[in-house]
Amino acid sequence: MIKIQDIEVKSVMTKSNLPVADFSVNPYVGCTHACKYCYASFMKRFTNHSEPWGEFIDVKYWPEIKNAKKYAGKEAFFGSVTDCYQPYEAKYKRTRTLLEQLQGSGISVSIATKSDLVLRDLDLIKTFPHARVSWSINTLDESFRREMDRGVSIERRLEAMRQFYKAGVETTCFISPIFPGITDVEAIIRKAKDCCNLVWMENLNLRGDYKGKILAWIHEYHPELDTLYHDIYTKKDRSYWMELDMQMRAFCEAEGLPYVRNDDSVRSRHGQPPVVVNYFFHEEIVNRVNERGWSNGDCYFLSKKRNTDPGSSCRTSLGLRLPMYNT
Ligand code: SF4
Repeated sequence: MIKIQDIEVKSVMTKSNLPVADFSVNPYVGCTHACKYCYASFMKRFTNHSEPWGEFIDVKYWPEIKNAKKYAGKEAFFGSVTDCYQPYEAKYKRTRTLLEQLQGSGISVSIATKSDLVLRDLDLIKTFPHARVSWSINTLDESFRREMDRGVSIERRLEAMRQFYKAGVETTCFISPIFPGITDVEAIIRKAKDCCNLVWMENLNLRGDYKGKILAWIHEYHPELDTLYHDIYTKKDRSYWMELDMQMRAFCEAEGLPYVRNDDSVRSRHGQPPVVVNYFFHEEIVNRVNERGWSNGDCYFLSKKRNTDPGSSCRTSLGLRLPMYNT
């Protein structure tokens, strides 16, 4: 039984310290997609929820946005610590309400989801400048997907991606998190490459209280991977990611797909092959960000240091549009 409550907030537009996304937007607290690996589950601590992650949502109500034009030229990232299109959005429509309040303001929107409910708002979303929508897909195996999240099926995510792409909206296939020894990255790219402008690849990061849960799950269902996970997540051996990086570089070359690391500046137009971006090496980026004087608060998940406002950080590096580094 999901515990639902309404809450009033002063504003849903949270200023962000992120390099490009000026605002992060989370019309709900909590997320009933309940992914086992959810980075955002730390939100429980900030909101005094004792229920397990995925078993509660707070529905936010905010004063109607007046003078939305003040956001012209800015960018909002939808869904840094929730999924704005989780199933309850069908009933409460808080994401749609916000889009309606911002429509015509000149703000651009970037939306991350594991749902096809976003199709309901396609006509609205495509009126925003530089709108882009990403779907997280880390497997084509529905039984593994069901073990890990309560989002819609992979086929439904892909179909939503196709429809947005067909409508001229920029789409991203977000292969995240990549589970070593389980996620077949090449198969996912083959499936999505005709309906996305970008492919982002992000490795599974394990920290916080979900680390133990994921490792226990691997031990129960994939004991043959215990050693690999121990090497990666206890001994901090990076060779798996380095080998996958080389493998993906070769794959992309063979498939005619541009391949870059840690670079969000390259774009492909509709009809061109998507750009594949490797974000395996988060710590590298953090170090460089720090060297260049970005504050640790720019990204909770990259820096491991919490931002003062949890809603202004993103659940993954990839929603953040990191500073551009070619390696
Ligand atoms: S990873 Fe995203 S979709 Fe999954 S529970 Fe967390 S916020 Fe929701």
